[in-house]
Amino acid sequence: MGDMKKNAHKILKLLGKAYLDAPTTYLNHGNAFEMLISTLLSAHTTDASVNKVAPTLFKKYPTPQDMANAEIDDLIQIIRSVGTYNRKSGYIKETSKILVEKYEGVIPKTIEELKILPGVSRKTSNVVLSVVFGINEGVVVDTHIGRVTQRLGLTKEKKPEKIERDLMELLLQKDWYEYARLVGAHGRRTCNAKKPKCPDCVLNHLCPSAVL
Ligand code: SF4
Repeated sequence: MGDMKKNAHKILKLLGKAYLDAPTTYLNHGNAFEMLISTLLSAHTTDASVNKVAPTLFKKYPTPQDMANAEIDDLIQIIRSVGTYNRKSGYIKETSKILVEKYEGVIPKTIEELKILPGVSRKTSNVVLSVVFGINEGVVVDTHIGRVTQRLGLTKEKKPEKIERDLMELLLQKDWYEYARLVGAHGRRTCNAKKPKCPDCVLNHLCPSAVL
């Protein structure tokens, strides 16, 4: 485990130099509520498709109160292009309702409280806490981060929750979101799902999956 920790640290350093411009999030948002709803909508779709519907959605329903009172049919019309719109429209209305009734419209700041909101996963909770509040309670593991972490040999696990647990062991807590930010960028730009660009990769000398 000691060597793996060292490796994880090296990986962070190298990626930090390679992706100075990696964004904290790819979802456009103006406040915690928008970030929560956009992250919820981004499940099984691209951030770009959420960014397309977000301006209309938040212009019409800017607060949890507004969204809790929205007609489901109208929400469906607005978010149709992000897919699974029947389910997601229900989630955003219900989640908004709970935010109003239980939290006076304020987004809670713990995973325990966030992840029980309808449609809000542990991953969504981690993203919101880190991006909006700078709180690292866990490590975000999305499809890119899971894939790259496996390829780098930092985990043998397949399930996101188990990969997250391994990363929490390997990384210092202060680096948890930095890892997600940098590895997310690496997965999008270099270590692609279908065709990783190993010869161009700054990690190829320490990656057990490198094809050179
Ligand atoms: S060497 Fe290849 S497989 Fe390994 S991290 Fe780099 S791009 Fe991904």
